Amino acid sequence: SRVTRSAFTKSSSAVKDCPASNVPEFAVIGRSNVGKSSLINCLTGNDKLAKVSKTPGMTKLINHFLINDSWYLVDLPGYGFAKTASKDSRSEWLAFTKDYFIKRDALAHVLLLVDGSLPPQQVDVDCVNWLAECQVPFAIVFTKMDQRKKDSPSPAQNVRAFKRMLMQDWEELPWCFETSGKTGMGKSELLGYIASINEM
Ligand code: GDP
Repeated sequence: SRVTRSAFTKSSSAVKDCPASNVPEFAVIGRSNVGKSSLINCLTGNDKLAKVSKTPGMTKLINHFLINDSWYLVDLPGYGFAKTASKDSRSEWLAFTKDYFIKRDALAHVLLLVDGSLPPQQVDVDCVNWLAECQVPFAIVFTKMDQRKKDSPSPAQNVRAFKRMLMQDWEELPWCFETSGKTGMGKSELLGYIASINEM
């Protein structure tokens, strides 16, 4: 399960503009700044594929990347929500993303990125519950596991706390991966997981 080829295919502003769906796709979602671009670049070994930014982007685009000529990695817009984000932008994101989930026949799996350098955020827990309600198959991918913030709990503690929060609502946890786009931690596990779904 190595990535030998990766290429940007297309940016689409609506589901109807997405490329023909002839291969399975794995959609990546998460809060803005969660490390989505860094992880995409890490998984593909291509640091120019997705744009890494210091400032959370505002563009609402669906980006398709064709991997090994056999599956798509799909970069969906980040959900916000900086403190300034409004209720409107939240429901706009939900509508946009749900449209993709419902209409996109090729959707194989969603990878929900959760920032491992932060304590559990309610908005991420909400997203887990929402994905489960949408009946979309998904896994949780903790990011920035290398980043220990001063005077804060460790990423490992943050992950445990997040799982504990989920266990309040769910008897069973989804598949979880601990990754770092910086060090490559978790990369082979995640690619192996994707390969196992593609082989089903
Ligand atoms: P995106 O907005 O979700 O695409 O996030 P980016 O990939 O652009 O990353 C946002 C910020 O987090 C950037 O400053 C990155 O350098 C940083 N970052 C991303 N991934 C990691 C990681 O695994 N470890 C650390 N320490 N920082 C990361």
